[in-house]
Amino acid sequence: MARHRNVRGYNYDEDFEDDDLYGQSVEDDYCISPSTAAQFIYSRRDKSSAVDTGEEYDYEDLKESSKSPSNHQLSGVDQACLYSSLDCMREVLGDAVPDEILIEAVLKNKFDVQKALAEVLEQDKIQNLKVKNVGAVSSGKIAKGKSVDSQSSRSDSEIVPKVAKMTVSGKKQTMGFEVPGLTAEENGHSFHTPQKGPPSEDTSIASSDVLESVSKSALLSHTVQASEEQSSTPTPVKKSSKLKQQIDVKAELEKRQGGKQLLNLVVIGHVDAGKSTLMGHMLYLLGNVNKRTMHKYEQESKKAGKASFAYAWVLDETGEERERGVTMDVGMTKFETKTKIITLMDAPGHKDFIPNMITGAAQADVAILVVDASRGEFEAGFETGGQTREHGLLVRSLGVTQLAVAVNKMDQESDVAFIPTSGLSGENLITRSQSNELLKWYKGLCLLEQIDSFKPPQRSIDKPFRLCVSDVFKDQGSGFCVTGKIEAGYIQTGDRLLAMPPNETCTAKGITLHDEPVDWAAAGDHVSLTLVGMDIIKINVGCIFCGPRDPIKACTRFRARILIFNIELPITKGFPVLLHYQTVSEPAVIKRLISVLSKSTGEVTKKKPKFLTKGQNALVELQTQRPIALELYKDFKELGRFMLRYSGSTIAAGVVTEIKE
Ligand code: GDP
Repeated sequence: MARHRNVRGYNYDEDFEDDDLYGQSVEDDYCISPSTAAQFIYSRRDKSSAVDTGEEYDYEDLKESSKSPSNHQLSGVDQACLYSSLDCMREVLGDAVPDEILIEAVLKNKFDVQKALAEVLEQDKIQNLKVKNVGAVSSGKIAKGKSVDSQSSRSDSEIVPKVAKMTVSGKKQTMGFEVPGLTAEENGHSFHTPQKGPPSEDTSIASSDVLESVSKSALLSHTVQASEEQSSTPTPVKKSSKLKQQIDVKAELEKRQGGKQLLNLVVIGHVDAGKSTLMGHMLYLLGNVNKRTMHKYEQESKKAGKASFAYAWVLDETGEERERGVTMDVGMTKFETKTKIITLMDAPGHKDFIPNMITGAAQADVAILVVDASRGEFEAGFETGGQTREHGLLVRSLGVTQLAVAVNKMDQESDVAFIPTSGLSGENLITRSQSNELLKWYKGLCLLEQIDSFKPPQRSIDKPFRLCVSDVFKDQGSGFCVTGKIEAGYIQTGDRLLAMPPNETCTAKGITLHDEPVDWAAAGDHVSLTLVGMDIIKINVGCIFCGPRDPIKACTRFRARILIFNIELPITKGFPVLLHYQTVSEPAVIKRLISVLSKSTGEVTKKKPKFLTKGQNALVELQTQRPIALELYKDFKELGRFMLRYSGSTIAAGVVTEIKE
């Protein structure tokens, strides 16, 4: 401990420069981070017992005394060797031998510690010296820089320059290790305490005080030390840092926030889920954006052809964000609720800006996950690569456990009902939940009531018979069985049927509905038909049975209007797809790109486009590998619509507009 102080007193620049002669001491005091310092200081504290027991010698005194090695005209290297030798000797001799004798012995023996020790011991003066040393220890230990009184017992010329360098308010030891919050008096307390007990006790008080101070303000000590070395007057740095420490931060925070708590909120979710719009609108409603500004945003966004982004512009501040209609950086705004001050972070949803989103989420306490309820978009957010899923995962991993899910774009989903349920506990299944927690926010139907309130579609019973095959199997007895849903018309046992493809006829020998044999069945029924007069090998899943008088058309080429979903690759001529139609799953290619259509009016906006991109409506021609039976959408909605998939993702939905023979 004391040794380190002594090292501080050294002029490193002159004596050691880059030479780490004094090993750790030099480095530890000057080249460590505060955290490492804390550890190191702790270990130093362990050493304090050595000081207490007098095992470690304080060179402060030595440095400042007339017996200082510097007085022997030693080089820096020799001085270091001398200190090191003295250190070793003190370990053997303790404080019993005065400095001058040890120094003399070391110098005489050219820093050979063993010889020096032998010489000192041989001198047989130890006994006498011990007696002498009682006096030396009783004042000297304290005088080792720890007592102003004892310092003053030396000649001023010896100590003043050093003390001046190290002193703040005249307390030599406290300056480097000031405990923040303590007055100079308190810090220097032990040094003024009149000596009552044995010297070692006082020393221990002093050193423990100092050690305490070190552990509390290692960094401060360096700062003050540095400034001390430039000036002998007390520096304002120390005083101001003391004042800063005295602030009652809790009370100040309370005052600053008007009694409200601070909360960092991040808004996350898939791109275009409406995060910026939602929060921008909320800020506007809260009065954080004035009407004039909002009006300006409305006008400007309209002019830019992005009227629907007016609220998003409240948070999307950069030109690029506004132009692209995506949040790129984390927008930060403040607003208040009844009891909280909220720092709102609007995270980018686009996957290209996930790193920015992580930055936002890492600073958040709580999160709002915005989910787009509209068809296709909801799914996109949950698909692999969808940000509803990824953001949810990210914030959770970053320790945000409190999450609110905002189901957005409800205005587009009049037919969608959201019902909280528990399959396990049976909550809200056939009777409305009585749970107070739930009743706080949910007043809707239970699941059974909701099912009961669905409206059945108009069944096309008046139209020609159509059944799409979902399974084919051999039954006992004659013939074979097919199952499927009757999409249109009705059937009676004994009816003649045409299968398309393969364009062959058969007879319906039996009809089974819900495992019961029936005489007839109609549109909407899931039935099983027992067929005779046809080879089972001719029938596949996806075949359509119809009446021979009103046959369905089978083809390999047809035209369709498609709506393209969230695709990554643009669709070009020859693009391979998998056509999903009723129970059929058939490889196909987009044979021709005929035109791009306006989403709202259906008018052609571009003929023969080179490619189609995300969100476009287009007229295309498709070619399937094998013939499939189709209807025009305008005639049979159920049999005229399909989905296109590519590489495991659904890329478009379409309706048949023209069948090429
Ligand atoms: P973000 O990428 O999640 O920040 O989404 P934006 O706030 O930029 O909104 C994307 C698009 O969704 C914009 O055209 C908005 O007008 C639209 N949008 C946002 N919220 C809603 C909503 O509640 N209903 C409808 N219909 N559109 C919305």
